Amino acid sequence: MTEDVIGVIGAGTMGSGIVQLAAQNGYEVVMRDIEADIVADGLERIEEDLAEAEKREIIEDADTTFERVTGTTDLEEVTEVATFIVEAAPEDQNLKQSIFEELDAQTDPDVVLGSNTSSISITEIAAATDHPERVIGTHFFNPPVKMELLELITGHHTSDETLERAESLGADLGRNAIVVNDFPGFATSRLGLVLGMEAARMVQEGVASAEDIDTAMELGYNHPMGPLKLGDYNGWDVRVEVGEYLAEELGSDVYRPPQIVKQMVRAGDHGVKTGQGFYDWDDQ
Ligand code: NAD
Repeated sequence: MTEDVIGVIGAGTMGSGIVQLAAQNGYEVVMRDIEADIVADGLERIEEDLAEAEKREIIEDADTTFERVTGTTDLEEVTEVATFIVEAAPEDQNLKQSIFEELDAQTDPDVVLGSNTSSISITEIAAATDHPERVIGTHFFNPPVKMELLELITGHHTSDETLERAESLGADLGRNAIVVNDFPGFATSRLGLVLGMEAARMVQEGVASAEDIDTAMELGYNHPMGPLKLGDYNGWDVRVEVGEYLAEELGSDVYRPPQIVKQMVRAGDHGVKTGQGFYDWDDQ
């Protein structure tokens, strides 16, 4: 293992998943969120998923793995021990900048600061710190324990050493890393968002049902999962934020969320995590 302790900021969908991935691969991990009940929910999800992984013989011992995980609301519990921190807070540039400013002030400059952002400029996030050379995009995919890709995004000042540390951590975690220059939407979200938003627009226009549009891409284009089901897994609240950001940055309406998606998000139908998206997930 190339790092001592991994810190994760955010105990939501991605944060808890990245924590689980790191713990499954032998790392001690400290996870921080802003409220105790959110931390508790994240820990519960990790514990349940680890028990399931043990049942399926993916890991040997769920209890020992879970013992490597600490949850806290106190940022210092992360910054005192972590040598590599991954931020997985909501997709909001100001929020991410304020988190990085805080992390920068509380850690030694040799601690790597990664962001799981799906779209926001790494260079801009790094600009909130005094050490932009140690900031890098570490974009894991949902769910992190299953999705093999790790998209590493180098900002304007990201050092070679930081990239090497991120590549080594990716290898420790069994991920397949690609390296992308900092450009809105990187390599993944830029393409994935077009497909997701266009599929939603097609439902809105009555072209076909969500199920049939997904089946079209799954059976006709050999995608393992259709774009609407995938959006349900990702969370349409997150997709809306990413889509609006990319529409502005890249100057193209193809990324803009259609009304049907905006309405779903306003109504709290974010997808799998709320039980309802384009599909009903309550019974699943
Ligand atoms: P989420 O809303 O499920 O979780 C975000 C968590 O961050 C929440 O629990 C929130 O309470 C917490 N948070 C807010 N402010 C915080 C702070 N100051 N310190 C610590 N925690 C704080 O969101 P998510 O889906 O996990 O997305 C997180 C990031 O990962 C986003 O940047 C998103 O774009 C990216 N991402 C998401 C997916 C996906 O499929 N959901 C995939 C890849 C990347």
